[in-house]
Amino acid sequence: MDPHLLPYAERQAPRYTSYPSANHFDSSVDATMYDGWLRALGESSTLSLYLHIPYCRQLCWYCGCNTFLTRGGDIADFVTTLMMEIDLVASALSSRNVDEIHWGGGTPNVLSPAEFRRLWHHLDFWFDLSPQTQHGIELDPRYVTVELATTYADAGVTRVSLGIQDLNPHVQEAIGRVQPFELVHDAVQILRNAGLSDLSFDLVYGLPEQTSDDLARTIKLAADLEPRRIAVFGYAHVPWFKRRQRLINADTLPGSSERHEQAELAQRLLTDLGYESVGLDHYARSDEPLAIAARAKSLRRNFQGYVASASDALIGFGPSAISQLPVGYAQNIPTIGAWRQAVESDVLPIARGHMQTAEDLRRAAVIQTIMCDLEIDLAPWGGWEKFPDAQVLVAQLAADGIVELHDSSLTIPPSMRQFSRLVAMTFDAYASPSSTAHSRAI
Ligand code: SF4
Repeated sequence: MDPHLLPYAERQAPRYTSYPSANHFDSSVDATMYDGWLRALGESSTLSLYLHIPYCRQLCWYCGCNTFLTRGGDIADFVTTLMMEIDLVASALSSRNVDEIHWGGGTPNVLSPAEFRRLWHHLDFWFDLSPQTQHGIELDPRYVTVELATTYADAGVTRVSLGIQDLNPHVQEAIGRVQPFELVHDAVQILRNAGLSDLSFDLVYGLPEQTSDDLARTIKLAADLEPRRIAVFGYAHVPWFKRRQRLINADTLPGSSERHEQAELAQRLLTDLGYESVGLDHYARSDEPLAIAARAKSLRRNFQGYVASASDALIGFGPSAISQLPVGYAQNIPTIGAWRQAVESDVLPIARGHMQTAEDLRRAAVIQTIMCDLEIDLAPWGGWEKFPDAQVLVAQLAADGIVELHDSSLTIPPSMRQFSRLVAMTFDAYASPSSTAHSRAI
């Protein structure tokens, strides 16, 4: 890595799955306000539904998600409460048009086939679901069964994301998640046999004990299974925020320079294997919707990461789930007990959020464009004079070759793609250079 880039690689930056980022949400958004936002959505509004299943059978040491260990009977009760939350939200909505459904977590495949069907039928009762509805689910390969795969196929699931991370035994041991390649291979076979062939893999670089050779081997083995998409995320080591990460020996983490090298290696190997780069950290086959959206510059970014659809509202269900409406963000209560108590009292379980100002919406659009297209022409947003703060910061990035400037536009060269979050941050009016709320930019 060019030494003058090292200080940039060590900076922290938000992931920009929202703007402002979730650490700026506060209690000014409550159940009453969210109820008003839901009622204001028109009958013809298109919806994207996200169901957060916060349970896991084991807690992996590296995980930054809001998750809880399963205990006997918990999940059946959880499903009942989630159905009650769907009742509360759907009663406030006039639209029934669903573009997309996504099950995330946690581990959605902790739900038994019967529990999944119960929730699915409940969604089908309230909303207009059709074969055109994009329907995705995140699965832990360790718990994929023939019966679950058949259940998902029968419910019209169109895309499955598998959490792979790394396929080397010593790295898997260092992150507290052991899943040999043969297990992943068998899970893929089970899914394909059930007709679920639109597969997406999540890989991670920057893990403890992980070398560039380990990452290259993981990418090669993963690509042999022919997923249509691969995401390669940088591991975010934030033990002050996620206590379970204290189980990871920080001395075994790759340094900034090695992380940068690994991110570049992933890009090189995956593009050589025929995948197209999408946004910051995704790769997709050229006929895949994300790659098509990236070429058409219609890619979007929300709490699910990069998406090809552009629904009018993203509605989240379950503890800690975040909803994104045209006027702002609302986040559910993160703990299961308090979330359940609110729902059982017929109150929308909102803990906090953010109401967007006109300036927030303008900056959110600019940041989303940078994160998705890796370039932007600011003319439609009033040119540089509307962003004097960003202009100063971007000039420094341009001097170091991270961006190229042409009149009212900026471009991130392909070799600087890994620095996109830092470029986006120059337009972030909430960013604080001393903040420790985020992970490293690379
Ligand atoms: S990585 Fe997945 S399975 Fe592991 S704790 Fe996090 S959500 Fe659960």
